Amino acid sequence: MNLNDILKGKTTFARRKILWSNVKKSKHLAIAFRKNGSFLASATNQLIQGHKDKFSLHAEEALIFKLKKIKAKERFGPLTVLIMRWSPSAKWTLSRPCKACQKLLEEYGIHTILFTTNEGNIT
Ligand SMILES: [Zn+2]
Repeated sequence: MNLNDILKGKTTFARRKILWSNVKKSKHLAIAFRKNGSFLASATNQLIQGHKDKFSLHAEEALIFKLKKIKAKERFGPLTVLIMRWSPSAKWTLSRPCKACQKLLEEYGIHTILFTTNEGNIT
């Protein structure tokens, strides 16, 4: 599985991975690919339980945590991050990153950010 596979619509991998999200209404998946398009890591959004106020960890934040464990910050740059959202009606839908996540990714030098659209395409 690489970026090109997903761009060509081979999304079985993504559909499987996104089920790790425990958020019912909108499941998000963020996938990091190396410069050559090969898969590096993926993470989903998560609802954090056990707090008086529930809060959710965005998929992009979870992905950065994962990347920090496996890669030095200065080597984040050439990565491509694809953000996908799976709707309750079982289709890919708009997953543009929120301002905070966009800023977070850019802080780590990730400027190639792709996401699914309302039409289920990737932009
Ligand atoms: Zn976000």
